[in-house]
Amino acid sequence: MLRFAPSPTGDMHIGNLRVALFNHIIAKQTNDTLSIRIEDTDVDRNIDGKDKEILDILDLFKIEYEPEVILQSNNLKYHRQIALQLLYDKKAFNCFCTSDILDQKREKAKRNKIAYRYDGTCLNMSPDEAIDNMRPFTIRIKKPFKNILFNDEIKGDFDFDPNDVDSFIIMRQDKMPTYNFACAVDDMIMDIGFIIRGEDHMSNTPKQIAIRKALDYDKKIKYAHLPIILNIDGKKMSKRDDASSVKWLLSEGFIPEAIANYLILVGNKTPKEIFTLKEALEWFDITHISKSPAKFDIKKLRFINHEHLKMMDSTELSTYLKFADSTIGDLAKVYLEEASTLNELRTKINNIFEVKTFSKDLTKNAIILQNIIKEAPFFDSFSDFKKYIGEKSNLKGKYLFKPLRVVLTGSEHGPNLSDIYPHIKNFLGEIVQ
Ligand code: GLU
Repeated sequence: MLRFAPSPTGDMHIGNLRVALFNHIIAKQTNDTLSIRIEDTDVDRNIDGKDKEILDILDLFKIEYEPEVILQSNNLKYHRQIALQLLYDKKAFNCFCTSDILDQKREKAKRNKIAYRYDGTCLNMSPDEAIDNMRPFTIRIKKPFKNILFNDEIKGDFDFDPNDVDSFIIMRQDKMPTYNFACAVDDMIMDIGFIIRGEDHMSNTPKQIAIRKALDYDKKIKYAHLPIILNIDGKKMSKRDDASSVKWLLSEGFIPEAIANYLILVGNKTPKEIFTLKEALEWFDITHISKSPAKFDIKKLRFINHEHLKMMDSTELSTYLKFADSTIGDLAKVYLEEASTLNELRTKINNIFEVKTFSKDLTKNAIILQNIIKEAPFFDSFSDFKKYIGEKSNLKGKYLFKPLRVVLTGSEHGPNLSDIYPHIKNFLGEIVQ
């Protein structure tokens, strides 16, 4: 079983979508299933509706997952039970240190330029002392005795010293589990065999392994931590980078097929540059992912988006553009010469149907042409149409074609009118008002 475990705390980040895509691909390749676990135990950070938004995005990208979505908050009873078990087995202990005291110790370590570690104050407290101390407490797991070793499919072997794992908190004072504890327990309950997630979780991995070891859970879990995605300036893509949000990219007219293609391509060795998610199932190999961060390049995404739009047939394209008439899809195909996103295409097509404004030098002839077109009979071929308009207006060359282009398309530049005409000839009544 694989899992994708998003937190419903904000817009879906492209890094997270990449994690979801890779989980989907590996699940398909290995005939395994992918479960979605919404990590909603950080109650203050949850945002209403974000879980639904995440699932909608997964559906849009055709990521397949088990229909029963798991809410981490439904597992709280297990987290609490297992924490008690660890206390009972003396693998965990109650810690009465206040956050003020801990902060002071952390500050001191910082001043002395040494890494802060829990100093064991409450580790060997006798029951009597504990009773004297009775005030809100956290539960800490005892640091492991031995180094924690694991292999990452992308980054290789890791070896963590027990002091780096530390005696860390698994249950907070409010009896809520910490992320590491909830995650380790849930991965166990769900029988996860392969964890694919962002490299920001690399330092959590030894802690989660330590928790499972303390519980004598010995199923080996495979790991792949995906390098972060940097912006074009080489900085981590934060919420401030619009392009980090999947929702934003979609709203800009990038299509799911192209975004998926880009996220699989970036920082990877692939046999080709333009492909569908289905094709990627044939050859995707997670060990080919580069160890170093990937750089997000919106220009490259534009190029890929353009290629995918070109691969679509007219009916698909008009559905994407939300135009009911599929001839608009044919028209959009012509405009693909100069547009790379759905929004750009939509703008070009809307310009055709909108009330036109003319520059000063074109106004007079444009109005003449509009009046002629309004009265003109229907012409199937552009050359007949052109001939008729030319004769009626007595205009020639650029004096004819410049204003004619604006009258028909709302723009002074664009694809050949002879390529556009077949797709607009039936709408001339709407176009020329
Ligand atoms: N909820 C975590 C996140 O969104 C993911 C944790 C994990 O995959 O283990 O970053």
